[in-house]
Amino acid sequence: MPHDPADLLLRRGIQVTAQRLAVLRAVIGQAHTTADAVAEVVRTEIGAISLQSVYDTLSLLATEGLIRRIQPAGSPARFEDRVGDNHHHLICRICGRTVDVDCAVGFAPCLTAMDGKGYEIDEAEVVYWGRCPDCVAKSRASSRSEPPLARRRSQRRK
Ligand SMILES: [Zn+2]
Ligand SMILES: [Zn+2]
Ligand SMILES: [Zn+2]
Repeated sequence: MPHDPADLLLRRGIQVTAQRLAVLRAVIGQAHTTADAVAEVVRTEIGAISLQSVYDTLSLLATEGLIRRIQPAGSPARFEDRVGDNHHHLICRICGRTVDVDCAVGFAPCLTAMDGKGYEIDEAEVVYWGRCPDCVAKSRASSRSEPPLARRRSQRRK
């Protein structure tokens, strides 16, 4: 069943406004988007909106479970509409590209703490950091364009 944003809001008992609809649509349209990017999309759709209103709407939608907020270390929060599963993320250290990766276990917390210290643990935050295929290819290409070392010496015949 396709996601109808208005329907999603109504089912959670959230009043449907043009602003909420536009924010939710922006997140559905672009996975792992940032608040800044959402604001840009929303402005083209409904006109002026403050970044603060975008933040407020995003946190309302996240609190209601319609969207998920991920907060990678050292980068702005990202939002996605893939909720209700315990998927993780691969993040490129160079360009920041973020993609989903399914959880091998499927439910949270998928890692068991050696010692839970009496905490009731409900989630293990798993982020895989590395370099995406494009950035790996780029770094290979740039190392290839460096002048090759002279590998062969001319050999003299006796
Ligand atoms: Zn990259
Ligand atoms: Zn995701
Ligand atoms: Zn997992």
